[in-house]
Amino acid sequence: MTDIKRRKFVTLFSAGAAAVPLSALITSLPSHAADPMVDPESAQAKALQYTNDAPEGKMCISCALYTEIAGESVGSCPLFPGSSVGAEASCSAFVPKS
Ligand code: SF4
Repeated sequence: MTDIKRRKFVTLFSAGAAAVPLSALITSLPSHAADPMVDPESAQAKALQYTNDAPEGKMCISCALYTEIAGESVGSCPLFPGSSVGAEASCSAFVPKS
């Protein structure tokens, strides 16, 4: 990878990383209904290897970033603003609840 390509990658990655905390603020607001489910074919889902078939012990419901939606079998995740994630789904950013 050339220096120019590396700089461009780092710049784009940094911009994306900065956007996540802002979206986290938006999605952390109380929700009364589930948003549409994450599209596993979306760029974000593919980048984070989102799957509805979670590996053992790595389900969204066990992730520190997961917020349950009362009365729903899905929840929200700051990495997928505007979408719901399945309680039994997972992604590569899984963080175990402490
Ligand atoms: S970070 Fe990944 S594993 Fe955790 S709740 Fe979000 S989608 Fe699920």
